[in-house]
Amino acid sequence: MKLDSLNTLLEEELKDVYSAEKQLLKALPKMAKNASSGDLRMALQEHLEVTRGQVQRLEQVFQSLGKPPKAKTCKAMQGLIEEASEMMEEDAEEAVMDAAIIGSAQKVEHYEIAAYGTLRTWASLCGQNEAAELLQETLDEEGEADKKLSGLAESLVNPEAEASGGGMSSGGGKSSSRSSGRSSSRKSGGSKLRR
Ligand code: ZN
Ligand code: FE
Ligand code: FE
Ligand code: FE
Repeated sequence: MKLDSLNTLLEEELKDVYSAEKQLLKALPKMAKNASSGDLRMALQEHLEVTRGQVQRLEQVFQSLGKPPKAKTCKAMQGLIEEASEMMEEDAEEAVMDAAIIGSAQKVEHYEIAAYGTLRTWASLCGQNEAAELLQETLDEEGEADKKLSGLAESLVNPEAEASGGGMSSGGGKSSSRSSGRSSSRKSGGSKLRR
């Protein structure tokens, strides 16, 4: 296919990210299943729901461009998921596995953030404002997911961060209480990360 315009490129790359999201729908439940921390499991399950919405939103993007939704295998997502699966086969300490799962999930989010940021810019350069707005919505969701994962990563080493970061709130984990007050009621997944 000849990429003769930015519009064509936009349409082609939408097929890639559409594939990426669909692959992720299958991978996230496996990652959640391998997580020991209840907060991490919840975050991954929540992002699964969000991802379902993103697939539908992409279908709206295709519609706004007057194109049928089509997927073209995203090899990058395939590779990221493959690496995550291999890693989850390893015998690991629970909290270390959680750290590894968070790392894998953040690589995915960063890939998506790059993809959606680019697509949003192209859509807006093409004057496809509805598409640009939809893509921006998903970009924001991916950013929130990434931030939440960063908070969870810190809470693996510092349980107080988990208590104050609040599992459900977005942008969590910026713990103000780095001191000792051991009042935290940890919800689950007891083991702390050994440095
Ligand atoms: Zn994605
Ligand atoms: Fe996504
Ligand atoms: Fe891709
Ligand atoms: Fe995501």
